[in-house]
Amino acid sequence: MTRSTHADHFAPPPEDSLAPRNLVGLSRDDLAAEFAALGEPAFRVGQLWHWIYHRGVTDFAQMTNLAKTLRARLAERYVIERPGVATAQRSFDGTRKWLLRFGDGQEAESVHIPEEDRGTLCVSSQVGCTLTCRFCHTGTQRLVRNLSPAEILGQIMVARDALGEWPSPAEGRQITNLVMMGMGEPLYNYDNVAKALKIVMDGEGLSISKRKITLSTAGVVPAMKRCGEELNVNLAVSLHAVTDELRDQIVPLNKKYPLNQLIPACRDYPGVHNARRITFEYVMLKDVNDSPADARELVRLLKGIPAKINLIPFNPWPGAPFECSTPEAIQRFARILNDAALSAPVRTPRGQDIMAACGQLKSASRRLKAAERAGAPA
Ligand code: SAH
Repeated sequence: MTRSTHADHFAPPPEDSLAPRNLVGLSRDDLAAEFAALGEPAFRVGQLWHWIYHRGVTDFAQMTNLAKTLRARLAERYVIERPGVATAQRSFDGTRKWLLRFGDGQEAESVHIPEEDRGTLCVSSQVGCTLTCRFCHTGTQRLVRNLSPAEILGQIMVARDALGEWPSPAEGRQITNLVMMGMGEPLYNYDNVAKALKIVMDGEGLSISKRKITLSTAGVVPAMKRCGEELNVNLAVSLHAVTDELRDQIVPLNKKYPLNQLIPACRDYPGVHNARRITFEYVMLKDVNDSPADARELVRLLKGIPAKINLIPFNPWPGAPFECSTPEAIQRFARILNDAALSAPVRTPRGQDIMAACGQLKSASRRLKAAERAGAPA
């Protein structure tokens, strides 16, 4: 028996070699290799790509510019699969949340937030999370596993299905922006997230540009540079505290990558300049991190970094050990930042009534014990 590595341990389940293969999540190169094996020319990859990612088709029979015989051969070997929708909810404010069920029965959530001039889709990268941030509901769910590229893309495709947004519109889209801010830590599932985002950014498919994509991290310092170089997407950093003492407590990842590593990594994030600032997320916790002294220290910490600060009123969840700061405390905090010429909008909570707001996502999935995974009855 071979020993499994940590990465294998949380990997998505291997594909069943007897079942038809899902084409979603394969890169253009992967598809070209599949086509080569079928003896088909590479230019057909572009046609297939168009059907899958631009038109949103799931049935090979609809791919009318492919020969009927090829369609039949594809249908024998492959599927174009979406995750199932276990539940769909809609908030009074128009925010929508989907609980998606993947092939192995594990579940994760994604959220669509419509605004006047744009629509943002918030996508999960893992089922559960390892980080245990104290104010985050997902943090109370242990990491179950990483999501595959197909499962990450599937969230966008399901949202497009539900919003009736195929083929990918050039204008008037309901999904203009994508944020990797759902369940999980995207930089702890970097390879799958990167593969999915490269497909998302492809201009002939889902076609969401890197300028409209933001990846949020709690500060996995060693992966930040690579993310900037390879993907060049916007970066958001969940800061939430300005001293190691407090950050160690509320964002335990800080013990591994403290502020004196995180802040320089932000300063050095590839592609950062004044027109493309890093977003720092700061959850407002009553009497914990919301004093004027905290605000002044934040100004000092971010000096020299092109930065914008999102002040996020704490969103409650059952059993949470925090309260939201008072509106006065939030205003006072924002004013100190603004006086130092830092943009610091206070985010309006969205979808709170359906537990769809920042930090409220969670699924019932749990990690099976080894014996259960091996197929023994639960
Ligand atoms: N693991 C990544 C991606 C999750 S993003 C990260 O930490 O950045 C989710 C955002 O919501 C993070 O900024 C997180 O700190 C914030 N958040 C978590 N719980 C929250 C809560 N209860 N209220 C408001 N924001 C919260």
